[in-house]
Amino acid sequence: MNQKSTHTGSTDKTILRRYLELPQPENKVLATYIWIDGTGENLRAKTRTVDQEPTSPLELTWWNFDGSSTGQAEGSNSDTYLKPVAIYNDPFMVGRNKLVMCETYKYSKEPTSSNKRFQCEQAMKAAVGHRPWFGLEQEYTLLDRDGWPFGWPKGGFPHPQGPYYCGVGASKALGRDIEEAHYKACLYAGVNISGTNAEVMPAQWEYQVGPCEGIDAADQLWLSRYLLLRIAEEFNVQVSFDPKPIPGDWNGAGCHTNFSTQAMREPNGIEVIKEAITLLEVRHKTHIERYGRDNARRLTGRHETADINHFSTGIASRGSSVRIPRQVGDEKCGYLEDRRPASNCDPYAVTDIIVRTVCLGEKD
Ligand code: ADP
Ligand code: MN
Ligand code: MN
Ligand code: MN
Ligand code: MN
Repeated sequence: MNQKSTHTGSTDKTILRRYLELPQPENKVLATYIWIDGTGENLRAKTRTVDQEPTSPLELTWWNFDGSSTGQAEGSNSDTYLKPVAIYNDPFMVGRNKLVMCETYKYSKEPTSSNKRFQCEQAMKAAVGHRPWFGLEQEYTLLDRDGWPFGWPKGGFPHPQGPYYCGVGASKALGRDIEEAHYKACLYAGVNISGTNAEVMPAQWEYQVGPCEGIDAADQLWLSRYLLLRIAEEFNVQVSFDPKPIPGDWNGAGCHTNFSTQAMREPNGIEVIKEAITLLEVRHKTHIERYGRDNARRLTGRHETADINHFSTGIASRGSSVRIPRQVGDEKCGYLEDRRPASNCDPYAVTDIIVRTVCLGEKD
């Protein structure tokens, strides 16, 4: 998904600022429509002017794009629809301008094959009485324009893993500017970001979104990915969501999915959590199919992962498929952590299958 290039093509941001600071007419608002393309992993976006600040996605009209250029339609019938589903404050254009998460629909008004939100929303509506909450831990790796991890010696490797996780200092934390800018941008946009940390592999970082209820979790995670890509773009750095960007003794990147229902959060909810884990175990293979491309490179049973072919669980065990956090074991209620999803997963697909398996009793 990432490219190797030494053409930087960077521009002088101080000149840009003069124009961004120009006053914007009262009756003009920029709405940037964002969608997932045909890969199911990459984002695309284009901007239009609307005449007033929207307060709900329902106030924005459907739009369209050339689906033949995004792997979402044939050239002969290429118009693909964008349906606005969630709006956020735009930290790049600021003011009244908005970022708009969209679903994609074919000319026939059926969801495109990479539109996993359509089904997810149906599941969330059916399970609304369970009050499903998600906390998503998004890991990612920063890469230089040549495709090598940001800040790593060219043609070589940094010192082995050990000092980097939550590390501080010049040779420990590589690319902190990007994660700090991203944190503030998420808060400004209205993303419920709950934390961030440097990861085990140098130039790898994590942030958490949530807890969010229902469809909101995946909407916000996708929007946060857009913000990250745009911010890194300004620093001329690439973001990789590959689950194992560097083979060997370097940690992979996941998207641990913390999940709870109302019953799990109530006293003695641990019993409900254990029942849920039993249901997850039965459908292990089906879940793995929805948890991201190339996850086998990551789920090896090493580097704080469980083997992709075997379901396992345990309290406080970071080598298991599904972990019960220590505090949840102590308090006997709370949530479970599904450690299997890869960093490149589609959170619509992940939260959808979890709710279907645990709340809606779906079986294979
Ligand atoms: P880890 O110890 O695995 O690194 P993190 O602190 O990175 O855990 O992430 C835990 C996530 O779980 C956070 O996003 C947090 O908001 C979320 N979370 C906390 N309580 C709940 C809950 N009851 N249901 C779902 N998610 C929760
Ligand atoms: Mn054109
Ligand atoms: Mn974490
Ligand atoms: Mn992590
Ligand atoms: Mn975790």
